[in-house]
Amino acid sequence: MKILPVVKPLKLTNDGTLEIVFLGVGGAFSQTLFNTNFIIIKGDAHLLVDFGTTGPFALPASTGLTLSDISAILPTHSHCDHIGGIESLALWNRYVSIPQIGKPKLSMIISKEYQHILWNYSLRGGMEQNEMSSEGNSLLFEDYFTIFRPTYLEREPRLRLEIDWQGIHIELFGTNHVPEQASSASSAFITHGLFIDNKVFFSGDTKFDKELIDMYADKSEIMFHDTSFFPNPVHASLQDLLSLPQEIKQKLMLVHYGDNWQQQNVEDFAGLAQQGFRYIFD
Ligand SMILES: [Zn+2]
Repeated sequence: MKILPVVKPLKLTNDGTLEIVFLGVGGAFSQTLFNTNFIIIKGDAHLLVDFGTTGPFALPASTGLTLSDISAILPTHSHCDHIGGIESLALWNRYVSIPQIGKPKLSMIISKEYQHILWNYSLRGGMEQNEMSSEGNSLLFEDYFTIFRPTYLEREPRLRLEIDWQGIHIELFGTNHVPEQASSASSAFITHGLFIDNKVFFSGDTKFDKELIDMYADKSEIMFHDTSFFPNPVHASLQDLLSLPQEIKQKLMLVHYGDNWQQQNVEDFAGLAQQGFRYIFD
């Protein structure tokens, strides 16, 4: 893996190498780091994974890109640091990018179940009533997004879905993030992590879940894992992650962390991922 700082504006195409670029690496409450959102780039394809409250500011600051440059998104779950910027992105696309530069609708990779939750519990309030369709109806999710459905590999004991998207293989898996009381991924509210192109693991948001880490550790070149620097009922704490075997810790690169990162000892791990940097996999 090569790590390079972004030269702005970031190029959203490359020679076919898998590349992950972090807009931010902060946790939900960080005030100095942007939300943990990233762009996957491979060949002519790009895919934005999550776009939180800080997304519209992080995108230009970390990459030099604008909202018009983004064509495709995959949201992992409904917390504001993961989806809080999607309304802004979608409204911009419909009312600025499409009329001004003839851009197509945004592509979104999403399961039917999660689409229902994302639309009805989060996006609908700000997006449904901006205009009437030609039939006089309010706007639908499909008016903003072209939907790409991943297919189910497994529902129990852990949700797993997959999609081949423009040459990028994405496996989505369920994580046990919320509620605090959920004892397993299958009893938790919908939250996804990703296994990208059979080599890069992204935990998404999750409690410490050794079983999940063991499922992907051997196959992963690097594992981007969320962490909390204090005991946390819905995230893996640094203390939890320190209990992993050394060979796994060396593959773990931490994301979704707090402002006091300089005070943490992370020498057992592959390090702290940094926003505005490209992680390139040959
Ligand atoms: Zn979350």
